[in-house]
Amino acid sequence: MRALAVEAVWKYYGDYPALRDISFDVQPGQCVALLGRNGAGKTTLLRILAGLSRASKGQVKVFEKDTLDRAARNSIGIIGHGIGIYDELSAYENLKLFAGLYGLENPHERALQWLERTGLERVKDGLVREFSRGMRQRLAVARTFLHHPKLLLLDEPFTALDDRAIALLQGLLRESLASGSTVIMSTHQLREALELASHVALINRGKLAHAGLRTQEMLEDPTYLYRTYGES
Ligand code: ATP
Repeated sequence: MRALAVEAVWKYYGDYPALRDISFDVQPGQCVALLGRNGAGKTTLLRILAGLSRASKGQVKVFEKDTLDRAARNSIGIIGHGIGIYDELSAYENLKLFAGLYGLENPHERALQWLERTGLERVKDGLVREFSRGMRQRLAVARTFLHHPKLLLLDEPFTALDDRAIALLQGLLRESLASGSTVIMSTHQLREALELASHVALINRGKLAHAGLRTQEMLEDPTYLYRTYGES
C-alpha cells in the first residue's frame, strides 16, 4: 500500500497555475524532502495532501483513501502556517483538546507528557497568543506528534526553532521513521532536511523538476540539487 499517491495534480489560483501536473508516489517509511524556491508551490501541495485544500485537477490518495476520509485524516500529522493551534487557549488546553479529538486515552496525561517533551511545561497555562514564534512552533510540534501519526506532512517545521528545539524535532522525526511512519517535509534548511531524507522532490515554478533518492552528492553539497535540476 502506498502512503501517498499524487496523480496529475493541478492547482489554479484564478488563472495562475501554482501546481502543474504533479505526480509522484511515496512508500511507507520514506522521508521526502520537498524542496523549491520561494513561491515554487510547496505549501500549496502540502495543503492539498493534507486535505485542507482541493486540487483543481488530479487526485491524491493517503494510504489509498481520499484525503477527506476520516481514517486517512486521523493518520496524518500536520505542521503548517497557523494550522491547528488556538490562540485563545493555553498550551495545555490546546493539547488536551486535540488529544480528545483524536480519541486518545487519558488526554490530560498525554497533554502533560508532550508539554514536557517539547519544553513547554513551565508555560503550559499561558495563552498561546502571548507565545513567541518559537514557543508556538514547539506547541505545533507537540500537537503534530501527539497521536503517533503514520504520515507527517510538515511545512517548514524548523522555522523559528532554536538549536535545542531543532535537535528535539530531528529526534522525534528519527523515532517516527524508525517506527515506520512516513514523512514529507518542505524546508529551506537544506542540511537538516537532507540529513533525514531518504528521498527528495524538487518543485520548480509549480512543476516537479526532480523526484528520487537522496544521494551522497546532495549531502556533501546541499545546493547540488538546485544546481542540477533547478532554474538557472
Ligand atoms: P515559500 O518557500 O515562499 O513558502 P512555496 O513553495 O510554499 O513558497 P506557495 O505558497 O505554495 O509556495 O505558492 C505558490 C504560488 O502560488 C506563489 O506564486 C503564490 O504567490 C501563489 N499563491 C499561493 N497561495 C495563494 C492564494 N491563496 N491565492 C493566490 N495565489 C496564491
